[in-house]
Amino acid sequence: MTDSSISELNGTELYGNGRLTIDLKALVTNWKKLGKIAKDGNKNNEAAAVVKANAYGLGIEQVVPALTNAGCTTFFIATIKEGMRVRKVNKTARIYVLNGFHPSIWSVYKKFKLTPVLCTPQDIDAFMALPGKKNEAALHIDTGMNRLGLSAAELAVLAGDEQKMAAFKPTLIMSHFACADDPAHRLNKKQIAAFAMASLKFPDAKRSLANSAGIFLGPNAHYDMVRCGVAMYGGEAVNDVPNPMKPVVKLETRILQLRYVKKGETVGYGAAGKAKRDSIIATCGTGYADGYNRSASGAGVAMRKQKGLAGANGMIGNFVVPMIGRVSMDLCAFDVTDVPERILKKAQWIEMLNKHILVDDIARSAGTIGYEVLTNLGQRYERVYVGG
Ligand SMILES: *Cc1c(COP(=O)(O)O)cnc(C)c1O
Repeated sequence: MTDSSISELNGTELYGNGRLTIDLKALVTNWKKLGKIAKDGNKNNEAAAVVKANAYGLGIEQVVPALTNAGCTTFFIATIKEGMRVRKVNKTARIYVLNGFHPSIWSVYKKFKLTPVLCTPQDIDAFMALPGKKNEAALHIDTGMNRLGLSAAELAVLAGDEQKMAAFKPTLIMSHFACADDPAHRLNKKQIAAFAMASLKFPDAKRSLANSAGIFLGPNAHYDMVRCGVAMYGGEAVNDVPNPMKPVVKLETRILQLRYVKKGETVGYGAAGKAKRDSIIATCGTGYADGYNRSASGAGVAMRKQKGLAGANGMIGNFVVPMIGRVSMDLCAFDVTDVPERILKKAQWIEMLNKHILVDDIARSAGTIGYEVLTNLGQRYERVYVGG
C-alpha cells in the first residue's frame, strides 16, 4: 500500500485496534503539583522533567512542548538519541543525558546542546580534556544505590585534588534514591545525609536528589531541583498510599466480535479461561504486541483493596468487564455478560485504562510496576493528544 492510498483511508482511523488518549493538561497539572510540593524545601526549587524512554511511552514530541509551554526549562533523558529528539522540539532548554558520557561523539553533544552527566573519574578526565572552555556537565554521585555515579571513595579522591577541583566546575550535582517509594526505608536518610556532605564540595553547583517519590520525602530531599518522572505521567510514586496524581492515559480497545460461550467452555490459548456461566465474550484487538502484559491475563478480580476495582478488567460505560483467558499477541477477551444488552449493542470499544483503571492497577495484576506498563504502551495504537 502506498502512502497516498493510506491517506485516502483517513477518517477511518485505518481501523486500528486500539486508541490511546493522552491528556497533556493532566500531565502539566501533575508537573505543577510536584513543583509546588518541591518548593517546600526551597522556594526557588526548579521542577525538571524526566522524559526518557519516549516520555515514559507517551511521546517526547508532544510531552516536551506541553511542558515547555507550562514553563519547564530542564529535561533529563537517558540516551543521546532521546536528547536529539527533545532538542528538535525545544531549542533552548537544558537537556541532561543520564546514561554515560561518550566523549568520542562530543560534536553531537555540541551540535544538539546536550549536557552530559558524568559518572566516573574517567568521565571527568575525558570531559576536562575536551577542547573549549565553557563546556558544561553535571556530576552524578552515588549515595547508596550502587548504580551510576562516583563512589564515596572516588569523590574523596577528586575532592582531595585541589588542582582538579579548581578546574572542574560541574553546573549540577545529582544523585538518585534507591528506596524513595518506601518512605520509611532507612537508606533514604542515609542517602540524604551523604548527598548533603557531597554537595558541600561543590558550592557553586545546583543540587538535585529527588525523583517523583523523593519529592514526597519532604523538604530535606528537595534541594535546588527535583526530577519529575512517573508521578507526572499519572503513575504511583509512593507505595501503599492513595495516588494523588491525575491519570494521564486512557486506553480503549476495539471490540472485534461478540460471541456466546456456554458454561464450562473455554476461551483463548491453553483453554485457560473457563466460562463459569453461559457468557457473552467480547474479543478485542489489543494484545501483548501492543505492550499489554500477557501476565495480566484473566486476573479479572479486584486486586486493590482500597478501590475494589483493578487488575485486568475493562470498562464499558460504568460497567466493569473482567478479562477472560490469556492475552495473546494481538487479541484479548472480556466477559461482557453483565453489560445490559442495550448498551452492549452500541459498544464499539472497551476501556482498558481510564480514571478508574489506572496503570498501577494493570501493573499489580501483571506483577510489575506502572513504569513498565507506561513504557510498554505500543506503537500500533491510534494516539490522540488532548489538552495540549
Ligand atoms: C528515571 C529517573 C528519574 C525519574 O524517576 P521517577 O521515579 O519516574 O520520578 C529521576 N532521576 C533519575 C536519575 C532517573 O534515572
